[in-house]
Amino acid sequence: MTAEFPDFRLGTVLATSFTATLTERRGKAVERIPVPHRLVDWLAVYGLAVDSCTPAQLDLARELRESIHAAATAAATGEALPASAVRVINDRSTQGRAAAVLTPEGERRWQLSPASSVEDALSVIAADAIGILSGERDGRLALCASPTCQAAFFDTSQSRTRRWCDMNTCGNRQKKARFRASQRGAAGT
Ligand SMILES: [Zn+2]
Repeated sequence: MTAEFPDFRLGTVLATSFTATLTERRGKAVERIPVPHRLVDWLAVYGLAVDSCTPAQLDLARELRESIHAAATAAATGEALPASAVRVINDRSTQGRAAAVLTPEGERRWQLSPASSVEDALSVIAADAIGILSGERDGRLALCASPTCQAAFFDTSQSRTRRWCDMNTCGNRQKKARFRASQRGAAGT
């Protein structure tokens, strides 16, 4: 049944993977959590399983997503963080009651309260965003070099020279475009 919805773009950084549920922001945008149950699916992938999601909770999630995107874009370009985005991120972070739990195998698991699971999951995402935006985490915020994307991503590569939000999509497309251009150039000579 999920085949009718766009696939997720799964990255390794929670907060920027979350902002990547809306892609091609500068082109023909693709909404990857168009309905509440797709947010439920996405959260499950990141170990934040919730039983259900209401349309109002999806709105909250998208508001947080756009706030993280705005703040991360500002941080990547050296501009001041938008106050409204900071407020939303802080509201979501403080209004959740997720708890980190250590499993016997030594792994972290998130424990969400049954009554407000989506809000709890969003608080985990907001806290992850704060870690990145505050410079607490080792890495660099940058904007994707694809002109139709320009997504803010968190570069944790050794050299800090990553150019694309995602190698398999934006990076690959750019490589193909360069290849086609070089083929055209070769044909013209
Ligand atoms: Zn991109």
